[in-house]
Amino acid sequence: MDTNSKFLKLKCKKCKNEQIVFNKASRPVNCLVCGEKILESTGGKSKIKTTILEVLD
Ligand SMILES: [Zn+2]
Repeated sequence: MDTNSKFLKLKCKKCKNEQIVFNKASRPVNCLVCGEKILESTGGKSKIKTTILEVLD
């Protein structure tokens, strides 16, 4: 298991919805409420497109 794998709590910059995502998601993640892209998959570490509220272990 990769030690850099973490769950992040993100806040959608558009609708303020809080959502927990995996930081190494294999595909982009959209906000469940408004559909705004909040995480972009780069093949390795994901690129966060919005505010990180908290890093979870
Ligand atoms: Zn949203």
